[in-house]
Amino acid sequence: AVPLVVARSTTIAAQHGLLIKDRTAFENSRKIDTLVFDKTGTLTVGKFEVTAMESFDSTYSKEQLLALAAAAEQQSEHPIATGILAKAKELQLQVSTAGDVQALAGKGIQAKVGNDTVLVASPVYAQEHFHAPAVNTDGTGTLSYVIINDKPAGYLLLSDELRPESAGAVQQLRQDGITTVLLTGDNKKVAGAVGQKLQLDKVIAEVLPHEKLEQIKALQQEGRYVAMTGDGINDAPALAQANIGIAVGSGSDIAAETAGIVLVNSNPADIVSLIKFGKATYRKMI
Ligand code: ADP
Ligand code: MG
Repeated sequence: AVPLVVARSTTIAAQHGLLIKDRTAFENSRKIDTLVFDKTGTLTVGKFEVTAMESFDSTYSKEQLLALAAAAEQQSEHPIATGILAKAKELQLQVSTAGDVQALAGKGIQAKVGNDTVLVASPVYAQEHFHAPAVNTDGTGTLSYVIINDKPAGYLLLSDELRPESAGAVQQLRQDGITTVLLTGDNKKVAGAVGQKLQLDKVIAEVLPHEKLEQIKALQQEGRYVAMTGDGINDAPALAQANIGIAVGSGSDIAAETAGIVLVNSNPADIVSLIKFGKATYRKMI
């Protein structure tokens, strides 16, 4: 049977935006000493907007590049895809249907659009595999290269905003003695800027999905009790490895299935409540 005090706490938790899927995760939340945040959708709003576009190839206008990128991204649930499709819609561009769509986890997406192979890719992947030229973004945005038939054709710059609650939540966690870490596949400049603005203890960027898992294991090997937040399909293995997996409500269903706790409102401040309730509940029982 569920002890009454726990049942009551679960109700209180729900009122604070926490869905407790696994009672053990809730019970253990008081042990958390390290909080690993995935950037997009928890610390940031998760709504990417295209703020700049450039074409390196006179064959394509900027709008044509955007339309091709949008075609490749049409089926994707990634926040970058949503931002690209929104911009194409805003500019009323015609977006073709793509075929042979291949999601490259943590790297980008590739598809066949008409006779062209279109790849929308991260800077690391585009530079390592296609010699894409470096672009100075001043650290303000997430750069996505558009590679057409293996040739860098241009880029789209996207930006996301910090959630207003993030700074306060991080500050509170640090005051509670919890080490805060940012773990993201996004580029080092963007990640560094977020880390600095929020005063996070550690920033780990440009990691592939399997590397997220390795980073969680490494923290655990240091003897840390790790909670991790995540929103994407890519985050599922790392969420499962963490001592406590926290899925962001606005994220993919797979992340939510893997996690013990769901942040229904995607609000990082609710993690502060989680730890507080966990402590209060299990103190009463002892
Ligand atoms: P995060 O850790 O922020 O969730 P991901 O692991 O999902 O990041 O992706 C890492 C990087 O790979 C992104 O910043 C982006 O550059 C690239 N990427 C991944 N999926 C896509 C996609 N569908 N479209 C464009 N770029 C993508
Ligand atoms: Mg993600």
